[in-house]
Amino acid sequence: MMSTESSFTLPDMLRQPVEAVHALQDRLIQQMVELCYDHHPYYFKLMRAEGLRPEHIRNRADLDLLPPCSKKEFLSDPDAFRMRPEGMPGNEAILWKIIYTTGTTTGRPAPIYVTAHDHFAYMYGFQDRKELIGLKDTDLIANLFPMTGFPMGAFSRAADEAGAVGASIMFGNTGRTDSMFPVNRSLDQAVASVARHKATVLWGVAGFVRRVLIRAQESGTDLSSVRMVMTTGEASSPAMREDFRQRMRALNCADTVIVNRYGSTEQGGTMVECCEGSGFHSALPDQLFHEVIDEETGKRVPDGQSGMLAVTHLNRRGTVFLRYKMGDVGSLNHEPCPHCGRTSPRLSSKTSRTGDIIKVRGALVNLGNLKEEFDRMPGIDEYQIVVTSQDPADPFSMDELVVRLAPAQGHAADISERMAEEVKRLTNLRPTIELVERDKIYDPTLPAKPKRIVDLRQAR
Ligand SMILES: [Zn+2]
Repeated sequence: MMSTESSFTLPDMLRQPVEAVHALQDRLIQQMVELCYDHHPYYFKLMRAEGLRPEHIRNRADLDLLPPCSKKEFLSDPDAFRMRPEGMPGNEAILWKIIYTTGTTTGRPAPIYVTAHDHFAYMYGFQDRKELIGLKDTDLIANLFPMTGFPMGAFSRAADEAGAVGASIMFGNTGRTDSMFPVNRSLDQAVASVARHKATVLWGVAGFVRRVLIRAQESGTDLSSVRMVMTTGEASSPAMREDFRQRMRALNCADTVIVNRYGSTEQGGTMVECCEGSGFHSALPDQLFHEVIDEETGKRVPDGQSGMLAVTHLNRRGTVFLRYKMGDVGSLNHEPCPHCGRTSPRLSSKTSRTGDIIKVRGALVNLGNLKEEFDRMPGIDEYQIVVTSQDPADPFSMDELVVRLAPAQGHAADISERMAEEVKRLTNLRPTIELVERDKIYDPTLPAKPKRIVDLRQAR
């Protein structure tokens, strides 16, 4: 059979000279800003309030004039971020679908409007960049994102991406829909269907895919067809990936490729490591502009310097963000990659959620490091780090660190002790270890991601 990877393809966007990509980005920024000035309710107002006209923002450097925004502004009025379709040419503004991102503060899901233009851009990006991601047109992808009561971005886009790549796809349909129609399946049913279809790729939130592997091990399910695990939506540490690999080896999987994808529903794209520790390559530099900005001033910081990651859409017609803060801290690198030679910008491999570094007993503690240590420890099914008050009723009560632990069978005592030691070593705090059932920490039938760090203290 002829390979479908023909040599008759366009020049690889991810290997273009940096200057060419920058020139393209500048041109697209101009167009996008012009469109937003007329069509985008939020930027219509913001630009006028700031005394900015389209001619003030002609390139990447000028973009710095525009104040960044965050999930807070978006959640307070999601429709203000949707371009008004009037006057847009052809089918560009026709609504293709609406996907949702969960609102962490309001609890309400917020709509992202995807027009025909946006949908084709997404399809094209993934058809064209599948080599970076590692998906093949012979793959059968198991979509293990939960099916929720509203179409979540990752669940909905997995099907688009399979279609774009030319792969097959099946759905686990776990989760909860709160509907009178009982359409969700259990974790065990999802595991069985992965085996039945001989899926080659498991794709989902890291914590959930891990539970699929654990259940397959426990039930002796044959997952030997699986060659790759792809995770999105939750950073998986090197330790966690090693845990995946060990389980995949134990399950006699065809291969143990782990692809850690960094992205979000708002961004609508993905960043992928070409190899472990390379940094996350932007897969779509012709659709997304990434920058790292100073949280206080909103100004861009140079390469290598840590700050808030922000994304600007370069070619969208539905929900559009300019300088949208993703809620993660990291740094960027625009040098060609020493591992693969690609020129698309890379985000530092080690990003931290802003919530990972918190004040406990007056001192800043990086609980992200603790998370990594725990991910490395064998014998743990689930865990959760909880910061709470010794007396929850007293706003001035001493902070307390509790580790909720669900050990793997036969591991309770040794793991509790090791965890307590690690906490002491990394934070100088002595934790309380609480043994709980694994589903009490993370119930894989619920749509939420596992929460590894929880702060229960009253706001002071
Ligand atoms: Zn690379």
